[in-house]
Amino acid sequence: MSRTLQLYQLQTIDSEIDQTRQELAQLAAQLGESDDLKQAKTRMEITSQELRRAQTVMQDLDLELKSLATKTSNQEKKLYSGKMSSAKEASNLQDEVSSLKRRQADLEENLLEAMMVVEESEEAVETAQTRLSSITSQWSAGQEELLQEQDALNRRLAELKSRRPILAQPISESDLKLYEQMRPKKAGRAVVAVKGDLCQGCGIAMPSNHLRRARSGTEILTCPTCGRILYVP
Ligand SMILES: [Zn+2]
Repeated sequence: MSRTLQLYQLQTIDSEIDQTRQELAQLAAQLGESDDLKQAKTRMEITSQELRRAQTVMQDLDLELKSLATKTSNQEKKLYSGKMSSAKEASNLQDEVSSLKRRQADLEENLLEAMMVVEESEEAVETAQTRLSSITSQWSAGQEELLQEQDALNRRLAELKSRRPILAQPISESDLKLYEQMRPKKAGRAVVAVKGDLCQGCGIAMPSNHLRRARSGTEILTCPTCGRILYVP
């Protein structure tokens, strides 16, 4: 096998390894929670907090109203028991009962408003929950696909890496060194094929005598334009 074919085969597998690694990196960026999912979770947290707050306000008002109702009822009983010692005392008590009832009416109105806020908050939580569930199921399905893809790419990478030493083994140390040094400087492609008389690295035609020499495969020739090692099939 010619020196340049050996190098070309090594280049091919290295390019495939590079490509697979690039795909794995792109995939890794897509794994994890999406912005939509994060937003839906935040919305769910906020609406739940608002509901808890509204429920607390409602419960507090309810308790306050109950204790006020008991107090009003007791004072009223006292008022109608006829056990007042004086007309003044009865009048004072009457005023107190009236005031308690006004306060009770205010609280009832507040409680009604609080109940409405709770109802609205419950609806908001329900909406947020529905959205979160739907986004979560879409996201999970997507993640499952990505994980399968990642698995396949990892297996491919392992297979390519296990084949590489077999291809590198027959190549002379100096050719290998040249190749390894050139690869990072040529965007990963140190060896390119020639099609017709065109270098596949830069697309530029090369002189016919250069091409003839490159075709033999026994010496390492580089493209006069892009400097890559040439392989002529
Ligand atoms: Zn070239």
